[in-house]
Amino acid sequence: MMSRKCPKCGSSDLKAPRHIRARGVTSAKYRDLNIITCRKCRYTEFYELTEDEVAPINKKAGMIIFFAAVLPTLIGIGVSVWLIWG
Ligand SMILES: [Zn+2]
Repeated sequence: MMSRKCPKCGSSDLKAPRHIRARGVTSAKYRDLNIITCRKCRYTEFYELTEDEVAPINKKAGMIIFFAAVLPTLIGIGVSVWLIWG
């Protein structure tokens, strides 16, 4: 499938690899995967990402966590201080 050909039906009409993050039922650890689907027969394959591929994603995820969690907390503290002292 990485060779851009479906092993099931031989079609080369494949969807672009999509990155997904999956978690096992018993494991708390996430795995980053690429999934490739054949447009013709819907056959889907999973590829585990290499360390090099995962690194920028984790960096991006870190930024998202910063803006989603850390920044509102800082603003919250800032507003509280402003309300008390302002
Ligand atoms: Zn196929």
